[in-house]
Amino acid sequence: MAGNTILLVEDEPEIRDMLTFALSRAGFHIVEAPSAEDGMVRLDGELPNLLIIDWMLPGMSGVEMARRVRRDEHTAALPIIMLTARGEESDKLKSFDSGVDDYITKPFSPRELIARVKALLRRSGAPDSDILEQGPLKLDLSAHQLSINSCPVKLGPTEFRLLEHFMMNPGRAFDRTQLLDRVWGRSVYVEERTVDVHILRLRKALKPYGLQHLVQTVRGVGYRFISPS
Ligand code: CA
Repeated sequence: MAGNTILLVEDEPEIRDMLTFALSRAGFHIVEAPSAEDGMVRLDGELPNLLIIDWMLPGMSGVEMARRVRRDEHTAALPIIMLTARGEESDKLKSFDSGVDDYITKPFSPRELIARVKALLRRSGAPDSDILEQGPLKLDLSAHQLSINSCPVKLGPTEFRLLEHFMMNPGRAFDRTQLLDRVWGRSVYVEERTVDVHILRLRKALKPYGLQHLVQTVRGVGYRFISPS
């Protein structure tokens, strides 16, 4: 069942059973955890392809679990959907700060959740084609060309790789060391300040289209790209 395993962290047995039933029927293999602590233990072994975490859990909260998952290099790239019973904007923002990829507010239909799961797996998997597309941004990886609203945009090679990395990991904050590792490569020695220089250039390239805000500074951490779509 490679590519189809979901770790479901939910303390309410009825909801857990209902979701396991629906997701299993949709072809997913479900690993259940009744608490965040239990869920963390299950992440020590073979990794699932996606996490569904309930916000309100006894003991460690779902938000805290998501933060820990993101902090650990072993699990940092796992896509996360958070289940929440609250709809306030501040709560949603908090969940995005914790590195959650998507959230769904209770009550929701299993069908809605399955659609979100599939969409997120598509988004976080290896790209199907050589084109990354988000809102008006289109990154053609083989032609090495960025276009915005179908207009070709000039981008330096480093800014291109930076944007590619960002578009493949929307919403996720990276510190400068991580960006250096992933965009420049571990074998290259570059000062951390270099990252800031290329971030500025990337923002400058996006500015004429009013999209410079997509590259956000995360205070005390580094940078994050917000998907325009
Ligand atoms: Ca709960």
